[in-house]
Amino acid sequence: MCRHLAWLGERRSVASLVLDPPHGLLTQSYAPRRQSHGLMNADGWGVGLHHPDAEDGAPVRWRSARPLWGEASFASVAPVLRSRSVVAAVRSATPGMPPDETAAAPFTDGRWLLSHNGRVDRDVLPASAAAAAESRCDSAVLAAHVLARGVDRLTDTVAEVAAADPDARLSLLLGDSERVLAVTWGDPASYLATEDGVAVASEPWDDDPRWVDVPDRHLLVATRDTVTVTAL
Ligand code: GLN
Repeated sequence: MCRHLAWLGERRSVASLVLDPPHGLLTQSYAPRRQSHGLMNADGWGVGLHHPDAEDGAPVRWRSARPLWGEASFASVAPVLRSRSVVAAVRSATPGMPPDETAAAPFTDGRWLLSHNGRVDRDVLPASAAAAAESRCDSAVLAAHVLARGVDRLTDTVAEVAAADPDARLSLLLGDSERVLAVTWGDPASYLATEDGVAVASEPWDDDPRWVDVPDRHLLVATRDTVTVTAL
């Protein structure tokens, strides 16, 4: 299982979200606190963000197949890489999945960034999604399927995939610069709402008592001002 986070709020540096928190994604890449599948997340990482200089409002991404803790150049740039909308992940590859950076979340389509914690049998996903996906990785195929069906049908899509593969773990995190959506299905999530914005993560990045756990099989929808959590 991988670890991921999303931020929506005031402009913040990627370093302040990913590298600096005491139990942030950097620490989670070698010492996650709440991970139930896999011991560490050393099989790559990715950061996607929306930036006003990007064309068409499409997000930009920086991904790698290497462990996050060895990325000195990224660490030097991350303090000046700033955005109001970020989705980032560190990866623990599912056995049999490709090892290259195109298998690392976040995946994207249009304005959306998507990260997947879990695994799914690719045979239950449509061939059109496999053809559209940028990688053979199950998470990339699932992302192509979810985003092709449309975010408005997110919960239906998750329910259908779960029915077709009852062993699937389908926790998702999506951001489009206006909203953050999170599905918990097999792996948990937590959120932190502050005056500056909202963070949603696989596990809290620090011990701030304001972190709220999202139960399994729930949908979280966050805007700049509101967070709603509903059962699936
Ligand atoms: N199945 C995905 C992969 O191989 C995600 C794995 C995970 O959540 N650890 O990358």
